[in-house]
Amino acid sequence: MIRINENYLKLKASYLFADIAKRVNDFAAANPDKSVIRLGIGDVTEPLPEVCVQALHEGADELAQRETFKGYGPEQGYAFLREAIAEGDYADTSISADEIFVSDGAKCDSANIQEIFAEDGLKLAIPDPVYPVYIDTNVMAGRTGANVNDRYEGVTYLECTPENGYIPAIPDHPTDLIYLCFPNNPTGAMATREQLAAWVDYAKANQAIILYDVAYVAFIRDDSLPKSIYEISGADEVAIEMRSFSKTAGFTGTRCAYTVVPKKLQAYDAAGNAHSVHGLWNRRQATKFNGVSYPVQKAAAAIYTAEGQAQVKAKTDFYLENAAIVREAMTKLGYDCVGGENAPYIWIKTGQPSWDFFDLLLDKAGVVCTPGAGFGTCGEGHVRISAFNSRENIENAMERIAAALA
Ligand code: PLP
Repeated sequence: MIRINENYLKLKASYLFADIAKRVNDFAAANPDKSVIRLGIGDVTEPLPEVCVQALHEGADELAQRETFKGYGPEQGYAFLREAIAEGDYADTSISADEIFVSDGAKCDSANIQEIFAEDGLKLAIPDPVYPVYIDTNVMAGRTGANVNDRYEGVTYLECTPENGYIPAIPDHPTDLIYLCFPNNPTGAMATREQLAAWVDYAKANQAIILYDVAYVAFIRDDSLPKSIYEISGADEVAIEMRSFSKTAGFTGTRCAYTVVPKKLQAYDAAGNAHSVHGLWNRRQATKFNGVSYPVQKAAAAIYTAEGQAQVKAKTDFYLENAAIVREAMTKLGYDCVGGENAPYIWIKTGQPSWDFFDLLLDKAGVVCTPGAGFGTCGEGHVRISAFNSRENIENAMERIAAALA
């Protein structure tokens, strides 16, 4: 008899986006003359930068000729892209090109990385609210107990609340695998250099590893804020960093990202012997992954040219201007907000249950947001508004919300 992985039965069914879709469909059916503006979605709306489109065409043309055709590429990514990343994103750190693993998404990498660590007894620290991939993949692997009152047993939840400015406190006990994400999804909050340094110290003291997800790095505008965890001295001994071209350059459908696993990083077997995490991840990727397509890697490399950098900045500036419009409008209406300054998300304290506020915005303004409760217990009392949209939609949505809530 074929049996299932019963850990999957522990997964709390995620009804968030299905629930949102149902309520929006019901509203549309009851109000056929009213348009709906969707500010809930975390997907880009602007097309690819021109340099990327040109590189995609060139890559396709190369595949059309016998002399330049390419079959399987290196599982870790082509050297031209790894070198461009090392030079473009890590010049001021210890990170070198052979510590960079190109992949088809930060979702897959943040989901897969856990499998190189122990299944039994590993102590997890995971933010609340959170990008759900971190927790769900550990549930699937059997590292948690049952879900009781919306929380999995055995997990240390890093609570992000108005009281701590949505930057979680360091646990008062040891943990082994720590997930951090700044600029944060969903809160848009960003940690300072000092706050990140304290996490690095904690990880060192506990022989732990930090998984640092910087998928939204391209939105950091405040130069005093760290863009990479490797700007913190000693982080290359305790941290893995993940980045993505999805939000940086509109690659959500094109698919390209990367994970940095420093050669200095070590983890231990049951006898306490140290092993290279870089070696384990390399083995895992070489066994289970066959690389990102050549034209897509060429398109990603084009981002690192001067022209590419200017085009990426223009796109991310556009979304940040949207974010500023949202934040200003909601603040004017009397709501406390975080995010939107170094992130494309604005996290709004609603003063009422997040689904009630969702219904209010939908019914009165025809605007869709994302209820914070869908991202975790600490998301209750908040909603997330995304700046990924046209200027026209953002402005119309804010006018409608102001008229409805004034
Ligand atoms: N990490 C965070 C925090 C995200 O919000 C997202 C996407 O929304 C991802 C990773 C996924 O990125 P990718 O498109 O590279 O898989």
